[in-house]
Amino acid sequence: MRHFAVVGSGPAGFYTAEALAKAYGEAARMDIIDRYPVPYGLIRFGVAPDHQSLKAVSKRYDKVAETAGVGFIGNVCVGADVSVEELMEHYDAVILAIGAPHDRKLGIPGEDLPGVIGSAQFVGWYNGHPDFADLGPPLDGTHAAIIGNGNVALDCARILSKTRAEFDGSDIVGHALDALDNSAIKTITVLGRRGPLQIAMTPKELGELAHLEAALPLVDLNDFPPVEADDGLDPGQRKSVTILRDFANIRANRPKAMVFDFFAKPLAIEGDGRAERLIVERTELDEKGAARGTGETYEVPASLIVSCIGYSTPSIAGVPYDERAGKFLNEAGRIADRLYCVGWARRGPTGTIGTNRPDGYEVAEAVAAAMPAGSSGDRAGGEGLKALLGERGIGATDFTDWRRIERAEEAAARSGSPREKMVRVEEWLQALGR
Ligand SMILES: Cc1cc2nc3c(=O)[nH]c(=O)nc-3n(C[C@H](O)[C@H](O)[C@H](O)COP(=O)(O)OP(=O)(O)OC[C@H]3O[C@@H](n4cnc5c(N)ncnc54)[C@H](O)[C@@H]3O)c2cc1C
Repeated sequence: MRHFAVVGSGPAGFYTAEALAKAYGEAARMDIIDRYPVPYGLIRFGVAPDHQSLKAVSKRYDKVAETAGVGFIGNVCVGADVSVEELMEHYDAVILAIGAPHDRKLGIPGEDLPGVIGSAQFVGWYNGHPDFADLGPPLDGTHAAIIGNGNVALDCARILSKTRAEFDGSDIVGHALDALDNSAIKTITVLGRRGPLQIAMTPKELGELAHLEAALPLVDLNDFPPVEADDGLDPGQRKSVTILRDFANIRANRPKAMVFDFFAKPLAIEGDGRAERLIVERTELDEKGAARGTGETYEVPASLIVSCIGYSTPSIAGVPYDERAGKFLNEAGRIADRLYCVGWARRGPTGTIGTNRPDGYEVAEAVAAAMPAGSSGDRAGGEGLKALLGERGIGATDFTDWRRIERAEEAAARSGSPREKMVRVEEWLQALGR
C-alpha cells in the first residue's frame, strides 16, 4: 500500500488526488490536508460570488473526496501544526498544493496607508475568508481605484459597482453585502500600465460590464490604436478588445462609472493618515511592448485602492523556495525526492481552474513513475498523522464534518442566496459541536 499526502484542497489538490486515485486504484490511500475545515481553496474564497456556475466545479471535487481511499484532513496547517518533514515520515510522497495566497506588494510609497488593500484581502472579505472577516474596507469615499488589468481587477471593480439586487443568487457573505449596499463609491478607476490591447481580461468577464444595473463602463477611444491593429490579436483577445471598444457606444444613464485608465503607472499613494489619491505617471509602449514612463503625472482620487497585481506562495520550512518567482523551486513539479508541488504553488498565479487539471495529472504521473502502482511502502499514512495530531491536541476534521458545515450554511441562507457562509474558524467548529 502507498500513502500520499496532498496539501491543499483547491483545484490543484483535488485534480492531483483524482489522478493518483485513478493511477493506483486500491493500491494507494491519500489524504487531502487543508488548513481550514472547509475545502476547495479559491473556489470558495476567490472565484466571485456572483459566478455561481463556476463554483459548481466543486461538485466534481466532492466525487473525488468520496472515492474509496481518499480522505480529507481539515483544520491542519502544514508548516505550523505539522512540518513537511513529519509528513514525509508518514507518507510515501507529499504533494504541496497550497496555492499562492499572499498579495504581491506594489512597491510604491504610501502603500501601507489605511485604505490600500491587496485583492487577496478584498476578495477574501467578500467571499468569507476567515483571515479577512474584519477587514472593513473603507467604502465611505466616492472614489475607488483598482490597480491591474486582469480578471481579478474586473471582479473587484464589478463587485464594488453592483446593486444589492444584482447579488441575488450569489453566495456573497452578509457582512460584505450590507457594507456594499451602503457604499458611497460612485467612480471606480481601473488602472493598467499598458494599453487596451495588452489587457489580460477575458470576453465573458468584460461583457458582463455592459449590462450592469448601476455602473457604466467608460473607455477613451483615444487610447486605442486604429481598429485594424486588432487583426494581429489572437481571437480571444480580439473579442475582449472589441467589447472594450464597444463600451464607448453604450448610451445609458447610470449613477456610477467604471473608468478604464490605460497607460497609467501608479507612482505613489498620498493622503492625510489614509489613502486619498494615487499619483500616476502616463506611459507609452516601448519597442518591446513594455510600459515606459513619459514623465507626465496626474492624480486619481481614491480612498479605497485595491491592488490586483498578482500573488505569491508562502515559503515553508525545509522546502526549497524561489524568492523571485514567489513559488516553490521545482522542475516539472518535482521539488525533491518524494516531494512535489502542483497548481499555483508550482506555476505561480496564472491560468484558470482548468489549467490545474493537466498540472495535477502530470505530477501524479511523475509520482507513479517513481513509485509504480503495485510497489509498496511501509509508512503509516493518515493513521500515523492523526496519531501525531492527537498528541498535539489538534482537532482535525474530515469530509463528513465539512458536509455538516455545508448543511448548516445552507440552512442559514438568506432569501435569494444559496448559503450564508460562515466566516470564522470558531463558527465552523461550533457547527461541528466542538
Ligand atoms: C480572485 C480570484 C478569482 C478567480 N476567478 C477565477 C474564475 O472565475 N475562473 C477560473 O477559471 N479561475 C479563477 N481563478 C483562478 C483559480 O482560482 C486558480 O487557478 C486555482 O484556485 C488555483 O488552484 P490551487 O489549488 O493551486 O490553489 P488554491 O485554490 O488557492 O488552493 C490552495 C489550498 O491550500 C490550502 N493551504 C494553503 N496553505 C496551507 C497550509 N500551509 N497547510 C494546509 N493547507 C494550506 C488553502 O486553504 C487552499 O484550500 C481566480 C483566482 C482568484 C485569485
